[in-house]
Amino acid sequence: PTAGGPSSIRQVKLDKECELRIEVSAETPLRLRLLNGTAEVFGTEIAPEIWLTFPPRLKFAVFTWYGATIEMDGTTETDYTADETPMISYVNVHAILEARRNRAKESPSDSDSSQVIDRWEVQKLACRVGSQWEMMWEIDAGIQPKKLLQAGAYLTRGLGRQGWKELEISPERSMCHLLVIVVGPTDSGKSTLSRMLLSWAAKQAWKPTFVDLDIGQGSITIPGCIAATPIEMPIDPVEGIPLEMPLVFFYGHTTPSIQVLVVFQNCCFTVPMQTCMVINTMGWIEGLGYELLLHAIDTFNANVILVLGQEKLCSMLKDVLKRKPNVDVVKLQKSGGVVSRNAKVRQKARSYRIREYFYGLANDLSPHSNIANFSDLSVYRIGGGPQAPRSALPIGAEPAADPTRLVHNVAGFIYITDIDIQRKKITYLAPSAGVLPSRSLIMGTLTWLET
Ligand code: ATP
Repeated sequence: PTAGGPSSIRQVKLDKECELRIEVSAETPLRLRLLNGTAEVFGTEIAPEIWLTFPPRLKFAVFTWYGATIEMDGTTETDYTADETPMISYVNVHAILEARRNRAKESPSDSDSSQVIDRWEVQKLACRVGSQWEMMWEIDAGIQPKKLLQAGAYLTRGLGRQGWKELEISPERSMCHLLVIVVGPTDSGKSTLSRMLLSWAAKQAWKPTFVDLDIGQGSITIPGCIAATPIEMPIDPVEGIPLEMPLVFFYGHTTPSIQVLVVFQNCCFTVPMQTCMVINTMGWIEGLGYELLLHAIDTFNANVILVLGQEKLCSMLKDVLKRKPNVDVVKLQKSGGVVSRNAKVRQKARSYRIREYFYGLANDLSPHSNIANFSDLSVYRIGGGPQAPRSALPIGAEPAADPTRLVHNVAGFIYITDIDIQRKKITYLAPSAGVLPSRSLIMGTLTWLET
C-alpha cells in the first residue's frame, strides 16, 4: 500500500489467474498501463503500453489469465495482489451463456416462442398491444396461438385474474432468449459480475442489453432511476457503461421502502433479436426487498438467476422457482476484492454520481445555471393516494391515476439550487444551456449539496 505517499512509478508482476486490487486515492487520479502479458479490468482487456487514467476513489482490479506486468503512477488508498479469485467460475458462467446464445441463434424462433407459451400453460389469453386490449384468445395448453408468433410478438408477463391469463404483447419487441438476473446482498459484487458478463459477451460480437434496477447505486445514470442500455463494445475500464442510448425511468427515491409499490410494473424494454439481457438488482434481499426481487424475476421472465455470496437466498429462490421449468438458479462465490461500503460511503457515492452527471467524470462538462418562473414549469411528484384494486376494474381497463405508472422516459435531470417564493422564481442547474425539453418536472426525494 502507498497511502498518501508521494507520486511514484512502480511495477507489479502478476502470475496467471491473479489480480491486482486497487482503491485509487480520494484526491488524485492513478495512471496505469500494461507493460507485458495480457490483462483485463472487469472483463475488458486493456491495451498494451497505453497509460489509462483512473479517477479518484475508483475501486477496481486488474486480472490476468496468463500473467502480466503492470506499471502504476500515482498514489492509492490500497493496492495488493490476490491469487484467490472466483474468476474461473465467472468465466464458466459466461461459457454456458455463450453456448446458449449460439444454440438460440441456430434454432428457429418459432419453437422458442412456443416454449414461452407452454411454460405458462396458457388456457385463456387476453392480449394487450400497447395500451389497447385488442385480441382475446382461448386456446388449449400446448396449442400455439399462431397469429401472435407470426407478428413476432413477445409475451412479457402474465397477471392471472378470474381464470384469465393476461399477457401484454409488444409487437415491436422481438425474442430475447437469455435473461440473466444477478442477485445477492449489498456489496457482493453484483454490478461487477454484470459488467464482466456484458463485456465478455460484447467481445464475442453480441450486443447484450444491460438493465440496472439498483435505484441506490445504479451504474447507468443518477441514483433513483431504473435504466437500460445496449452494450455494443466491452465496457471501458475508466468511463464505465456507455451512455449514448440509455432508457431511463425516474423512480425518484434511492430506496424502494419510501414508496412500496411495484417499481418495475410499467417498464418496457425493447430487446434486439437473438441476444441477451443482464439485469443487475438492489442488495436489499430481506422481507420486502425479497418480494421485489421475486417480482423482478417474474416481470422480466428471467431464466438464469445468478446468486452471489448468499446460501440462504440461493436456497429460497431454488425452492420458489423449482416448479418453473427452464429457470436455472446458480450459486456463485463472492470475490474477496469487493469493497464494502457503509451508509455514509454510499451516500457520498450517490453525490459523486450526481456531480458526474452535471460536470462529467473528469470535470469536462459545463452545466448551466438558469432561472425560470413558477408559471413556466409544472412540478409533479410520483405516487400517493388510494387506488381501486385492479381486480375491481373491467378487464383491460387501466386505473385512471395509477401511482406506479412510469409514463415517460426521462429527457434529463435538473438540480434546483434555489426557490424564491416572493419573486416566484426557480434557479436550476441543467446539463446544457437553452430551453428545457419539457415544462413538466418530476420531483423525487433525492438531495444533493454541491460542494
Ligand atoms: P450494491 O450493494 O451497491 O448492489 P454490488 O453487490 O453491486 O453492490 P459492486 O458494486 O460490484 O457490488 O462492488 C462494490 C465495489 O467493489 C465496487 O466499487 C467495485 O468496483 C469494487 N470491486 C468489486 N470487485 C472487486 C475486485 N475484485 N477488486 C477490487 N475492487 C472490486
